[in-house]
Amino acid sequence: MTQSKQAITAIRGIKDILPEEISRWHFVENTFKSILTGYGYQEIRLPILEKTALFARSIGEVTDIVEKEMYTFDDRNQESLTLRPEGTAQCVRSVLEHGLIHNQSQKLWYSGPMFRYERPQKGRYRQFYQAGVESFGLAGPEIEAEQLLMMARFFKLLGLERCVSLQLNTLGSFSARMGYQEALVKYFTARIDELDEESKRRLTSNPLRILDSKHPQMQALVKAAPSILDYLTPESLAHFERLQKILKVSHLSFSIEPRLVRGLDYYTETVYEWVTQDLGAQGAVCAGGRYDILVEQLGGKPTPAVGFAIGIERIVALLELEGQVATPSIADVYCVFLTLDAVLIGLPLVENARNHIANIKLVADLAGGSVKSQFKRADKSGAKLAVILGEDELKNETLTIKYLREDKPQVTIEQKSLVAFLLGHL
Ligand code: ATP
Ligand code: MG
Repeated sequence: MTQSKQAITAIRGIKDILPEEISRWHFVENTFKSILTGYGYQEIRLPILEKTALFARSIGEVTDIVEKEMYTFDDRNQESLTLRPEGTAQCVRSVLEHGLIHNQSQKLWYSGPMFRYERPQKGRYRQFYQAGVESFGLAGPEIEAEQLLMMARFFKLLGLERCVSLQLNTLGSFSARMGYQEALVKYFTARIDELDEESKRRLTSNPLRILDSKHPQMQALVKAAPSILDYLTPESLAHFERLQKILKVSHLSFSIEPRLVRGLDYYTETVYEWVTQDLGAQGAVCAGGRYDILVEQLGGKPTPAVGFAIGIERIVALLELEGQVATPSIADVYCVFLTLDAVLIGLPLVENARNHIANIKLVADLAGGSVKSQFKRADKSGAKLAVILGEDELKNETLTIKYLREDKPQVTIEQKSLVAFLLGHL
């Protein structure tokens, strides 16, 4: 007796992106790329694997990512490697390694999969895709403003501008943040009995992150906590105010959220999130800010830096809700060959048409079967025209053209005039 074989499935939290969804992905990726190119950003392609130390040193030892979310393993040479959980650290690693920020500024973008061992749920996966942007060498708030305007344009081109809003905050300079952190520890220690377990733990390891707690029990407490805005140096305040001023003259609306913090340690000054109400708990679709200390932390000269990353799944999900991306047809022209001899004549004709008509979507039915099933597939393909080659056409060296989307009678053309006909009718 043969044993039935159990099908192997994908890994939990890691999903396939199917052809029916892909047009939304292309729309997001192409829009992102064209906007970034339009602002003078260049693409950089970074590897998926890095040495573990890179992330431990940059993101922070006591962040969620490094503590519990990284896919880390020893390779065959006992070197500890990690599937990248985010792109900023490795982008800094790369620009330092290749001297790209030596005496010059840089504006870069990248996209690709990231990996975090999180609890899978809607909008939260273990492999997910980000598109990210990093600028190096620009110290003023103008670059933050420009990146935010760029994103506003992105959401507008996707037709999502009414679904997202911008929440802005500043964490001040690194030293001001330390002062603020002390005030927070004092505040939460005085209320320690009201803290949930995770926040108690963070009180000693990473107090700022308590502000990011999603626990319902913590919300009122967080709301009443000291505000970073009372701890800023005059320089940080001026930076933050000028940023707001540029956004206002550019008519970009935002709200100030003094308790907005990020889950990574390298941020200083400006931090922000673009959020939506339409996706339930996973509402952040883009997050970023300034990270002036990271380049130095990874061995470079002190270099101001600003960047952000978008979560592509969540933006695709928003597009799906909005429903305005049509699935493109897979064919312009669908060819049906009714006999084996017809295939011999038909395939070279189709190849010749491809030689002469750039970017045409010409699909030949290679599945055979009944005429009825071939026409069913022709219709489903979305093609405008069907080209039919059967016994009569073979004999007369002709082709029959059927209009699949218009109420027009079919026509007969000579085989040698296929290219001219298609050029005139597409
Ligand atoms: P969240 O608060 O939702 O966990 P985060 O602060 O961890 O997000 P970042 O590390 O700043 O997120 O990443 C930027 C963006 O990447 C997020 O705003 C989100 O859209 C997306 N993102 C982050 N983690 C995931 C995930 N596990 N699955 C899908 N998208 C994600
Ligand atoms: Mg997270």
